[in-house]
Amino acid sequence: MASTDSNILLSLAGVCRDYLSGETQVRALNNINLTIKRGEFLAIMGQSGSGKTTLMNILGCLDTPSSGSYSVDGHQVNALNVKELSSLRLKTFGFVFQRYQLLANYSAQENVAMPAIYGGMEKSQRLALAKKRLAQLGLTERSGHRPSQLSGGQQQRVSIARALINGAQVILADEPTGALDSASGQQVLALLKQLNRDTGTTVVLITHDALVAQQANRIIQMKDGHIISDSSQHQLPSDTPAPLGNCTPAAPLQTNTKQHIKCYPRISLWESLCLALGSLQANLFRTLLTLLGIIIGVASVVTMMAIGDGGKQQVLQRIEAMGTNLLQIRPGGRNIRASGEIATLTMEDAQFLTQLPGIADVSPEREARTTVRFGSNDYSGRARGITPAYFSMRNWEIAQGVFINNDDVERYSSVIVIGATVAEQLFPNTQNPIGEYVLMNNSFYQVIGTLKAKGASAGGRDIDDEVYIPITTAQLKLFGRPYLSSIIVKVSSTDLLPTIEATVTQELKRRHGREDFMVRNTATLVEAISDTQDTLTWMLGSVAAISLFVGGIGVMNIMLVNVSERRREIGLRIATGAKPSDILRQFNIEALMVCLLGGLIGVGLGLLISLVLQQAAIAVAFSLAPPLLAFTTSLLVGVIFGYAPAHKAASVNPIQALAEE
Ligand code: ADP
Ligand code: MG
Repeated sequence: MASTDSNILLSLAGVCRDYLSGETQVRALNNINLTIKRGEFLAIMGQSGSGKTTLMNILGCLDTPSSGSYSVDGHQVNALNVKELSSLRLKTFGFVFQRYQLLANYSAQENVAMPAIYGGMEKSQRLALAKKRLAQLGLTERSGHRPSQLSGGQQQRVSIARALINGAQVILADEPTGALDSASGQQVLALLKQLNRDTGTTVVLITHDALVAQQANRIIQMKDGHIISDSSQHQLPSDTPAPLGNCTPAAPLQTNTKQHIKCYPRISLWESLCLALGSLQANLFRTLLTLLGIIIGVASVVTMMAIGDGGKQQVLQRIEAMGTNLLQIRPGGRNIRASGEIATLTMEDAQFLTQLPGIADVSPEREARTTVRFGSNDYSGRARGITPAYFSMRNWEIAQGVFINNDDVERYSSVIVIGATVAEQLFPNTQNPIGEYVLMNNSFYQVIGTLKAKGASAGGRDIDDEVYIPITTAQLKLFGRPYLSSIIVKVSSTDLLPTIEATVTQELKRRHGREDFMVRNTATLVEAISDTQDTLTWMLGSVAAISLFVGGIGVMNIMLVNVSERRREIGLRIATGAKPSDILRQFNIEALMVCLLGGLIGVGLGLLISLVLQQAAIAVAFSLAPPLLAFTTSLLVGVIFGYAPAHKAASVNPIQALAEE
């Protein structure tokens, strides 16, 4: 008997399979004892609902018995883990389904080659093998066709070729001729017979057609989950149905404990990438839409951060151009009521400060909004009463004429220096405004100089729309009161700044009798502005990040739809030997790939938009951090938002998925 035992390939002992449908338990298989030897051609017959498919799923290790034991080639299936089951399925079984279950986006050749991916076969090798298998089944010319371009019979032959690609020992065919016309059905049947005869492949065929069953060497009849007859046995204990809920497991069969199942490793990263790329291509429009979400998110992060940083750098440059050794004194203070104009700083204060040691220059000023008129043109801008120090501290350049000098200040001269915008507006046709008289607050001022254009100021204001007159003249004619709106003090060296700040505060306090002024140095000014600009940058950045987040939700949404739509494909891959971890990896990589691609394009687009903005004279600053941050965030989005769909894909039940329409 030893020789017979080693011939036993599949062995079921006391197998029951219960389903819970609602509250009631349905026993689909009841105490099945069955052994199948190598090289058998077996037909399973029975009415619909008799448990044939359930039996087939257990035979193919897609399902496990509720009780009883099943062994494949000496391996107790109950004792195997998910990975071992997948590997056992991959090398032992080939499934042929009633509805072929070919992947619509793959050619016949690719369909046949598909299960070999999970057996670790290289692409060129598996495609060559698939071609060979197709040729053996008379489908050489059809290898490049898609399933939709093939007849039912041809599709079924392709699926048989697919079942054979991993060298299956057993073909499990559930109603393989059920959807075919009789001629095609005969052809498929003949093929299975030939396969069995020539290569010794075991064939288990489910049918409810007696004529089909007669082609087999052994016929098993099923009814209500029992085997009621087996043509290989003369007498069958046909009236031994175990009562429900009392399905006693049979004594374990002789098991092959020495030999372990060789587990196939998870498919390579490269294969996963190819698979992911393939399915992204197959749904190109959808992929593009998903990409768009990520692209917009990443591009806006990159652009917003570039604009924010650009603004900040511009402001800081302007301040630094004036020097870091400045003190600004403004009227007002903590204990001064701020109602109306605060009038505490005077020209005498400014003159006094000039005499203090360590002070290089003092620039008092007074400013107000005003309208300047020349002929029929007028212009509303800012008028500043200043001293020559105002220009020298800022290194401003004159376009035409001269600056205001000390004589002008002393003599209360009615002279004016005008900014570039004002010059353009008031003298659109005049080549040289120098020497002309402009009207401001009922007084005439002679233009002695125009300034070169300087662009926006530190605060983002246009500083070319200003006019400058001597401070003395301004106080007399424009304001009528001898007060200043600020004094800027230039310290001879930056190191002295803290000392001089203290001295200035102390001296002014002594002069005024109280602290009715505020002193700020450039360093604190830079810090304050830098802080506000940083906040602005981060605000812009976080608005953009939200759009990236929304893009991530889009990825998750589409991937979930993707998984639902591809359940049959997933089921098929698992049935043909893919491990759940293979499926998990493929879908994770699909999401990651969308985000990677979206991230790359987004960074490119973001930089491009920033460049265009720069051309349009908007300050932008490029640094490595924002693109890198946006890109890694998008990858992270892919990992995080791709996980749930991938997990869902990996937990697809192949039996259910393949049964779906
Ligand atoms: P056959 O393939 O012979 O038509 P099946 O094996 O598909 O029969 O089904 C056998 C019995 O098990 C039927 O009564 C069916 O309703 C029940 N059954 C099959 N699958 C499930 C399931 N997933 N849930 C509940 N009952 C099921
Ligand atoms: Mg069935």
